[in-house]
Amino acid sequence: MSERGLLIVLSGPSGVGKGTVRGAIFDDPETNFDYSISMTTRSPREGEKDGVDYYFRSREEFEDAIQAGQMLEYAEYVGNYYGTPLQYVEEKLAQGIDVFLEIEVQGALQVKERMPEGVFIFLTPPDLSELKNRIIGRGTESMEVVNERMETARKEIELMTSYDYAVVNDLVPEAVRKIKGIIETEHLKTERVVHRYQKMLEGLK
Ligand code: 5GP
Repeated sequence: MSERGLLIVLSGPSGVGKGTVRGAIFDDPETNFDYSISMTTRSPREGEKDGVDYYFRSREEFEDAIQAGQMLEYAEYVGNYYGTPLQYVEEKLAQGIDVFLEIEVQGALQVKERMPEGVFIFLTPPDLSELKNRIIGRGTESMEVVNERMETARKEIELMTSYDYAVVNDLVPEAVRKIKGIIETEHLKTERVVHRYQKMLEGLK
């Protein structure tokens, strides 16, 4: 029996640096898993290529793909659709290849519903735990602003608990090292490897 690949989902609040961390992971020649290229309706930025950075599509094309059941997940973010094409993910996992998604939080929660066996990694800003003290301690913000920020932080922390791991994005190389460590560890889980040892275990009977 060949092992299915791992589905690795990196997500986190906006502005936390998911794209930078993902870039550093895939710049590393030792990275041996695949990146799932997302589909989006936003326009390409300078230097971005269709089929490399994203599949750039019209709203109509994107909505057709949703209707046809071709998306593993999708979300609207700042007025544009972003989503993960299902077929590529399915094919790679079936071939035993790990697939890495870098997506925003609403999409990550959808993936969790559909593929709970995935590995869900939440990238956090470095100062999350100090946020409250900092906001209150500074004493310069109105109560309204403090409350608004605390509410945002609270929602972020609540979402974190839906994930398997939380990694602080303080220094990018450190975050990359931790994420790679998580993936390596996940590959060693007994439920994934037990079949390799089945014969040996039978011999012990
Ligand atoms: P950007 O426009 O800066 O490339 O990406 C904006 C946001 O969309 C980022 O938070 C990124 O993680 C997220 N994103 C990129 N691809 C996908 C996707 O396929 N699905 C979802 N849900 N979010 C995505």
